[in-house]
Amino acid sequence: MKTLIPIFILLHLFNASVMAQKDIRSTKLKEQHFTPKVVMPADTWKAKLTPLQYEVTRNKGTEYPGTGQYYNFYEKGNYYCSNCNALLFNSESKFKSGCGWPSFNDVASMQSINVITDKSHGMVRTEITCANCEAHLGHVFEDGPPPTGLRYCINSASLKFIPDSKQQGKP
Ligand SMILES: [Zn+2]
Repeated sequence: MKTLIPIFILLHLFNASVMAQKDIRSTKLKEQHFTPKVVMPADTWKAKLTPLQYEVTRNKGTEYPGTGQYYNFYEKGNYYCSNCNALLFNSESKFKSGCGWPSFNDVASMQSINVITDKSHGMVRTEITCANCEAHLGHVFEDGPPPTGLRYCINSASLKFIPDSKQQGKP
C-alpha cells in the first residue's frame, strides 16, 4: 500500500489547486486527542479486520483512489467506524468531491475524532483518527464546501455504512 502514496498526494494537490480558486470560507481544525476506549493488540485487530481494513486503519494506509465501496455512494444513513462501530459521519455531509475517496464536509460530532498533524511523506497534513479506537480514517483539507469549508477525505475501508432504514439494528 505504501507505493500508492505518490498518486494519493498528486491527486490531492491537483484537487486543492482547483478548489482554492473558489471563494469558500475555511475553518482550520485544531489538534485534539481523546483517550481511546477500545484498545487491542495488533494481532487481535488483524484477526477481526479484513487485510485492507487492517492496512488502512492500523497501518495508516490508503486505498486506491476511486475503488472504495463508498466513493460513488450516496444513500441516506450513517457511517460508523469499521473497527469499533463508533458513529463518525452521516450522509447529509457527504458530497461529490471527485478526489477519489468518500468526502464529507463535517463529522457527526467533534468528540468522535482525533485531529493530528501528520508530517509524513514530506508534507504537513491534518490526519483524523477514530476517537474511540484510534483507527486511521483519512485526512482533512481546507477546500470543502460550506458551511465548514472542510473536506474530510476518508477511506471506505475505515467506514461501515448503515442505511436509515436499518438504524434499528445498529452495528
Ligand atoms: Zn473506531
